[in-house]
Amino acid sequence: MILRARWVLPVSSEPIPDGEVVVEGGQIAEVRPRSSLPDGDALDFGDAILMPALVNGHCHLEYTALRGLNDRTPFFDWIRTLVALKAQCPPELWLPSALLGAAELIASGVGFVSDNTDAGVSVEALARAGLRGRVYQEVFGIAPEPDDATILRELTAKLEAHRQTLQRYEASERITLGVAPHAIYTVRDSLMRAVRQYAREESLPLSIHAAESSEEVALARAGSGSFAEMFVERKIPYLHPRVPPIEYLHNAGILASDVQLVHATRAEPRELEMMARAGVSVAHCPRSNARLLTGVAPVYAMRRLGIPVVLGTDSAVSAGSLDIWEELRFAALAQRAASYAASPSWRDWVRILTLDGAKVFGVDAHIGSLEVGKRADVIALRTHRLAYASMPDPYAALVLVARSEDVAFTMVDGRVLYHDGRWIGLDVPALQQEVERWQENAPLH
Ligand SMILES: [Zn+2]
Repeated sequence: MILRARWVLPVSSEPIPDGEVVVEGGQIAEVRPRSSLPDGDALDFGDAILMPALVNGHCHLEYTALRGLNDRTPFFDWIRTLVALKAQCPPELWLPSALLGAAELIASGVGFVSDNTDAGVSVEALARAGLRGRVYQEVFGIAPEPDDATILRELTAKLEAHRQTLQRYEASERITLGVAPHAIYTVRDSLMRAVRQYAREESLPLSIHAAESSEEVALARAGSGSFAEMFVERKIPYLHPRVPPIEYLHNAGILASDVQLVHATRAEPRELEMMARAGVSVAHCPRSNARLLTGVAPVYAMRRLGIPVVLGTDSAVSAGSLDIWEELRFAALAQRAASYAASPSWRDWVRILTLDGAKVFGVDAHIGSLEVGKRADVIALRTHRLAYASMPDPYAALVLVARSEDVAFTMVDGRVLYHDGRWIGLDVPALQQEVERWQENAPLH
């Protein structure tokens, strides 16, 4: 198969005007200027950009069906409402909800997603949708019961079920597993340490929501604020560490190069140094942070210290949509506004969304750029709209103008998942009907 477009953006090398990508057996066989082979042999997108499929560094696909049902703020009220909504949901809702989220990502040009799942449905959702990714099984435990050993036994059973699902769909090479002890206000100290130990023994990476909100920082530093009041009310013993959240995780020996910290919106300079030394990465989800009033993460400072940053949409119930281009634009502009610096550059941002993102998840040998020998994870983005006119720099065009609706084609592992508004392999209208039926039967509020 030959893919052609006015621009080919390999990311790892300079853009090729009027280029083509040759795909053979699920692999990229060649990336070159347009050949003289007749059009009949090629899929020519014309006025478009061909580039690697994108990396979404943090998501909760199963919450897609909850979109629009939680507009509470500040963060504490939002997360309390989310917990209440989840408690009303029938378990059968989670899989179609996650599949709808996967469809939205595919239509946005995402080929790899890092997803945190409580219900555990993300492995099947990614496998069925044809996506690549990392699925972190979430762990919660703040009240004294059940004890750590029980929670770890349950975790082991869930991971075993995930491995069987991966085998059933022959997706073990595309999708890897991890563990997500959710946050310091939902996972007690002993459990956090036990999960760290478990993950080390099992060679599983960790994902932790950390330093997201001022409420979380107040809890950790002073044992005060909304979370602390809730613990008193529920008679949950909580010994606050008297240091901010990431410093606590550092002191507890949790931080290491296999840890992803989600948000780190409130990370303080000393914590940033600890993060850099430990080699953790950060998932940056700026629309979610803005919507839930938690601030703007210090991405500029993180990158200066060499902390790898990936971009994530977070869930549809926090960010509103899974449009990764919206996330990209908001991230780039909010950082400029907050840091008064033109760094990361447009090109840096596109790398974060592709090659640098792939590197953080250890898959850059296979995906993240258009290079001979890599897997064929390729998207085509049409640049017909008026807003693209007189945009000579394709990187600037992608950051400032691109949106999901421009994506014409998404291929993962040589398999076409989406072409001109149609999903191949996912019956999206049927999934929508299924979700609507659940909501009609048991309206969530
Ligand atoms: Zn999250």
